[in-house]
Amino acid sequence: MSLENCPLFNAGKGSVFTNDGSHEMDAAIMTGKDLMAGAVAGISGVKNPVHLARMIMEKSEHVMLSGAGAAEFAKLLKLDFENEDYFFNQFRYDQFLEIRDTDKFQLDHTEKKFGTVGAVALDQNGNIAAATSTGGMTNKRFNRVGDSPIIGAGTYANNNTCAISCTGHGEFFIRAVVAYDISCLIEYKGLSLTEACEFVVNDKLKKFGGEGGLVALNTNGDCVLAFNSDGMYRAWKTSENKKGVEIYR
Ligand code: ASP
Repeated sequence: MSLENCPLFNAGKGSVFTNDGSHEMDAAIMTGKDLMAGAVAGISGVKNPVHLARMIMEKSEHVMLSGAGAAEFAKLLKLDFENEDYFFNQFRYDQFLEIRDTDKFQLDHTEKKFGTVGAVALDQNGNIAAATSTGGMTNKRFNRVGDSPIIGAGTYANNNTCAISCTGHGEFFIRAVVAYDISCLIEYKGLSLTEACEFVVNDKLKKFGGEGGLVALNTNGDCVLAFNSDGMYRAWKTSENKKGVEIYR
């Protein structure tokens, strides 16, 4: 939620513009101990889409809600809403104006560093979880939905394998079922977290033409931050307070 509240990232406040000049956000969350998940697609006005995703996981019988119905559910739960001014961002607006009158829709990867936010975490009980939140791609239309809210594509968590949150060109991540593919390589083929992430991101996905990256974690606390783009904003912190922040390789 704090990453969503920061205007520097393409999620929540700071989300990119759709072709009609609005914001449609996607988010998902999954917990590895019970394979519970919640996701929201094409939500507008809700301050923290990832919080809504969590409420869908915890307070509904569903996994994924979208659009007006998801907003109705958020209102029922009295989640925070914000108006258009809150979501307006000059930098994003200028990016949007550059391609508004074209058929292009584009990744927010200013200098090829992605702006979608994702987090993976391991708690003191040994459980892992993953969450992803995004405004999607600039100038998207037709209620386009990316990989972020799709369980198994952009977000996945399973205590037996890993927790994964992806960023990149969603269409490729959906077709390559990236997050679940990594989990399967660990579960069925016995690959390590590093081997599985490297293979999917820097071999399979790259050959497929999919640009992006991901953050991954397992219950041992092994952490992999893999990407095939020039850079990816990333940071980590351990319970012993070891921490780091990186952008490029
Ligand atoms: N994966 C997101 C999407 O396709 C975009 C991003 O990660 O920047 O909607």
